[in-house]
Amino acid sequence: MRQGDPSTEAELNARFRTRISPHIRKLIAELPGEEARRLLLQFEPDARELGEVPGYSDDPLHEEDSDIHPFPDVVRKYASKILYLTTDECPVYCRYCTRKRKTLLSRGHKATDLPLIADYLSQRPEIGEVIFSGGDPLMLPQADLLSRAKFFLQLPTIHFMRFHTRAVTANPRLISDGLLNGLEVLRQEHPQKNIAFVLHVNTAAEISDAAHNAIAGLRKLGVPLYAQTVLLRGVNDSAEILSALCTTLLDCGVQPYYLHQLDRVTGAAHFEVGEEAGRSIYRQLALTVPPYMLPRYVKDSKQGKYPLV
Ligand code: SF4
Repeated sequence: MRQGDPSTEAELNARFRTRISPHIRKLIAELPGEEARRLLLQFEPDARELGEVPGYSDDPLHEEDSDIHPFPDVVRKYASKILYLTTDECPVYCRYCTRKRKTLLSRGHKATDLPLIADYLSQRPEIGEVIFSGGDPLMLPQADLLSRAKFFLQLPTIHFMRFHTRAVTANPRLISDGLLNGLEVLRQEHPQKNIAFVLHVNTAAEISDAAHNAIAGLRKLGVPLYAQTVLLRGVNDSAEILSALCTTLLDCGVQPYYLHQLDRVTGAAHFEVGEEAGRSIYRQLALTVPPYMLPRYVKDSKQGKYPLV
């Protein structure tokens, strides 16, 4: 906690869940001062979160709207895919989390029976992809995660599966041999289906030796690995920091994919980099890294992502 005021700390603790994994705590202790500060800022409660800021809300992407929210744990923003919210647990709770209502503000996760979701999908064969998100799907017990993945892969209309996770950088031990073996079995059972991982990572310093090993394990499976990053004031708001991230990602076999503009979620206003400043940083980044290393700078909305440059 950045401030010593006990009543502020109590208010923050009462309002938002906080979690910093032992792996991240160790990394913070090992990193040089500035890199450690940029990492800690992402997860540490901050008094600025308590201020009400116009335009910021618990559900900035309107994912709770009934027209795109068929089940408590399913969001359908795109015709061809669903977001499957598996849990409200994460290895760390990022203070800027878009889905804060399901994570830092969660009052419990409600899981829908899988056959009900399968029935919904069977009536909409245009949906070909299930994206496991959360929270972090890798926080599910391993057998549960694998069995849910198997369930969806067995559906004839599902051809693509994606796992969005922070675990590779925040708790690499979750990429265990058991998980890798289970994923390998799923790939062998469903060779015609595509499984990909999208890693959430904001600075190069997050790619520790253990994260490198976790990535290497996933690469051995032959699954495509992509990275998404949120542009955050005080964390990665410079072309130099983003360039180091893109280079490190590519060095370990992960394709930089999205650079997200901050979603205006409750308590995150102090992280916002204005769109003009963001474009300027992005243009500098584009001059620094080869085009194949350049993520797309995008803003999310209820209707989906759109490019900012
Ligand atoms: S790990 Fe992902 S889902 Fe969890 S708090 Fe961070 S951004 Fe949100």
